[in-house]
Amino acid sequence: MAIADVTASIGTVNHWIGGKPVASQSGRSSVVWNPATGEAQAKVRLASVEEVDAVVASSKEAFPAWRATALSRRTETLFKLRELVDANRRRIAELLTLEHGKTLSDAMGEVARGLENLEFACGVPQLMKGGFSEQSSRGVDTYQIRQPLGVVAGITPFNFPAMVPMWMFGNALACGNTFILKPSERDPSASLFLAELVRQAGIPDGVFNVVQGDKVAVDRLLEHPDVQAISFVGSTPIARYVYETGTRNGKRVQALGGAKNHMLVLPDADIEMTADAAVSAAYGSAGERCMAISVVVAVGAVADPLVAAIEERIAKIKIGPGLEEGNEMGPLITREHRDRVASYVDKAEAEGATVTVDGRANAAYRREGFFLGASLLDHVEPRMQCYEDEIFGPVLSVVRVERYDQALRMINDNPYGNGAAIFTRDGGAARQFQFDVDAGMVGINVPIPVPVAYYSFGGWKASLFGDLHMYGPEGVQFYTKAKVVTSRWPDPGSSKIDLGFPQAR
Ligand code: NAD
Repeated sequence: MAIADVTASIGTVNHWIGGKPVASQSGRSSVVWNPATGEAQAKVRLASVEEVDAVVASSKEAFPAWRATALSRRTETLFKLRELVDANRRRIAELLTLEHGKTLSDAMGEVARGLENLEFACGVPQLMKGGFSEQSSRGVDTYQIRQPLGVVAGITPFNFPAMVPMWMFGNALACGNTFILKPSERDPSASLFLAELVRQAGIPDGVFNVVQGDKVAVDRLLEHPDVQAISFVGSTPIARYVYETGTRNGKRVQALGGAKNHMLVLPDADIEMTADAAVSAAYGSAGERCMAISVVVAVGAVADPLVAAIEERIAKIKIGPGLEEGNEMGPLITREHRDRVASYVDKAEAEGATVTVDGRANAAYRREGFFLGASLLDHVEPRMQCYEDEIFGPVLSVVRVERYDQALRMINDNPYGNGAAIFTRDGGAARQFQFDVDAGMVGINVPIPVPVAYYSFGGWKASLFGDLHMYGPEGVQFYTKAKVVTSRWPDPGSSKIDLGFPQAR
């Protein structure tokens, strides 16, 4: 059936402008699939350039009043938003499962981590405090204040349709900016639900807008003169493009990209605990997490028992629709993505890896929907495509090395630097790894070291373009600009003309 036929009878996902849903007139749309059934369940409108301009105009108009709103009032509305998201955790999670496919418990976890970012943003009056130096010169005081940027935009990926927007907009709004969300066109509905909660929280119309769209919308946001900053999360090629284009147009940009996260396992590691962690981190959310472990680097004799323990656990993973109680792994986002992920198993075999478990042999692969079982590739080498590429699916590679320094060099030579983990019982070795490794987020016996909301999230190398990490204190820095004021109050008694350069001493 052609896409036009499929979408004729299903619901549409609209923009959200000025506090209400607004239908697009662009005539362009994209299918939103139900990955668990393989059926089209909605179509999402894709904005035209004119529609993006209308969204930006609405955000620009809302900015002066929002910026002038008392910090305590902004905080109050954020507290209300926090309460509303908390009260609607399950409804948001269900939307995520319906469109993304992840299990409901995983989706609840996503909402919980997003909520922590809203909680952090409630503390913004404290976070926006500047500095004050009395008597920086005689009768002169110097102080720094932080002010919002204006209209800022967030462009988000399909794999965290609620959490990643919350990484961004809590801080952006708290700091006094108006925010435009451009969600992934593959699972766009959560964005509208969040927009409705923002409205219910009492945040004025236009302060939070949503524009549905694809490259057309992104490109317009990147070049629009009234957009001051862009926060992006997605794949590395698009992150690089967004960073280069946005900064060329004079915008502040933070662009988080893809990943290839390694788990280094030393010979003294606890095999059972390490295998549990590897399986959870590699196959949770069907491997569609930027912090998923995709490579285990096994040092020395640990490889054989570890591979056996992982294999044993894979056989027990329950795969099925995310809304069905008890399932641990859902489908992938689209059929094309599922097939691309599966193709790495053949490529790995052809390049000399050992396919210990082939996800296509799992009964789930034959179901309706975009399911694929977990795959385990052993004896992988860095020259192989399954090692080089971010697969973004339930495929775990095992690389065997003799020594720690070989493992470390491999991790540091990798172009990505999002997360890296070490599993060991040796505190000195773990500390050395933390010192040595070129990655922005490090786990010590923790496979997915996503920082809590009061630290900031970000990788190194090709995993992040820009200077500031996302959320937490660096998020506040990103969404504000500093102004330094030097002030003297008239003292008629000491006033005189002095054409020399102002001096402090
Ligand atoms: P993606 O790069 O395809 O899309 C991300 C966003 O960019 C979407 O909103 C999409 O509409 C837009 N986009 C896509 N193609 C574009 C183009 N040619 N021009 C302009 N805009 C475009 O990413 P995805 O597939 O939605 O998400 C998965 C990727 O995101 C993975 O690579 C994953 O590692 C990464 N990711 C990274 C982090 C992180 O924190 N570093 C977090 C989550 C996901």
